[in-house]
Amino acid sequence: MKKNSLLIHGGISTDEKTGAVNVPIYQTSTYKQSKFGENTGYEYSRTGNPTREALEKLIADIEGGTRGFAFASGLAAISAVLSLFKSGDKILITNNLYGGTFRILNQVFSNFNIKYEIVDDFDKLDKQIKDDVKAVFIETPTNPLLDVIDIKKVSSIAKSKGILTIVDNTFMSPYLQNPLLLGADIVVHSATKYLGGHSDLVAGLAIVKDEELGEKLHFIQNATGGILQPFDSFLLIRGIKTLSVRMDRHEENARFIADKLSRSTNIKKVYYTGLKNHPGHEIQKSQASGFGGVISFVLNDDLNFKRFVEGLELITFGESLGGVESLACHPASMTHATLPKELRERIGITDNLIRISVGIEDKEDILEDIQKALILAGGKDEIL
Ligand SMILES: *Cc1c(COP(=O)(O)O)cnc(C)c1O
Repeated sequence: MKKNSLLIHGGISTDEKTGAVNVPIYQTSTYKQSKFGENTGYEYSRTGNPTREALEKLIADIEGGTRGFAFASGLAAISAVLSLFKSGDKILITNNLYGGTFRILNQVFSNFNIKYEIVDDFDKLDKQIKDDVKAVFIETPTNPLLDVIDIKKVSSIAKSKGILTIVDNTFMSPYLQNPLLLGADIVVHSATKYLGGHSDLVAGLAIVKDEELGEKLHFIQNATGGILQPFDSFLLIRGIKTLSVRMDRHEENARFIADKLSRSTNIKKVYYTGLKNHPGHEIQKSQASGFGGVISFVLNDDLNFKRFVEGLELITFGESLGGVESLACHPASMTHATLPKELRERIGITDNLIRISVGIEDKEDILEDIQKALILAGGKDEIL
């Protein structure tokens, strides 16, 4: 099956017993054991639940993996993946990682002596892989500065050194990018974002290709218990069915907005991998089938960023991304507030940086809202 069909028919897409076209919500914690030592394959819903399993098979199919695991949030998925490591191990990370991922490394796993180190230049990655390094954890495009990292190159260096490559694929979704097919070992998602797509649930996923790694992650999922509930699993399956049409529209709108804003005299810089002058444009084209729906931009110094975000009406000012509605975020005080200020400023997450998750509304309405807010923030009136 090709990818649009797989989103709808992948995994377990119907109910064998009744023919229902949607997977039932098995709202149960336990299962009757018919005889001593005999069960249906389900014993207890932390270990396995048919609704969650349908989602897990679906996500494995659409990411090109063999096993998928559903968790209560993206960070629960990431925390399960990080639990594969032990005291003394070090994980290499990108310099603009999702704030929550940085926080869990910096303030939780560090307590167990699982260390991290930032990679500033991926061209010199191999030199940074010393004996204690056991994995490299990347996001591409990164959040919020949309740097592109070459997944194939990173995975092949990692493989040659015998360490794992972990890719947070939240920004692209499996519709646009499949890191496992490019050589990565583990893919994680905040399914709260594009996969769910409707800002109505919090969920996380981890997907692997290797059977042994799959067994280890299943053990951790059951042992630590951060599973996704049956109803949320159902909602996520429902969201995934329309992923392709939503992503196409997100991207159409994001390209339009990025193109217009790059001509604005009120804006210093626009970050969007779909722009030809983006340094990662060519790598992005080679490893993903699109550019996604998130753009970031820097307001001119004389504009007031607080008045800008407060001036938005159609675009919701709030955390998160990937929903059908456009969302604006102020990374320095919101998603990336957990990064030390010095690191934030060094990499470009300044106070004037705004990130927009471009929704699927009419693109002209989104642009008009931004232009109105630019004027309220002290910008010049202009025709784009
Ligand atoms: C939101 C997000 C997360 C965390 O996911 P939650 O579902 O909020 O726990 C991780 N990575 C990226 C890239 C995100 O955008």
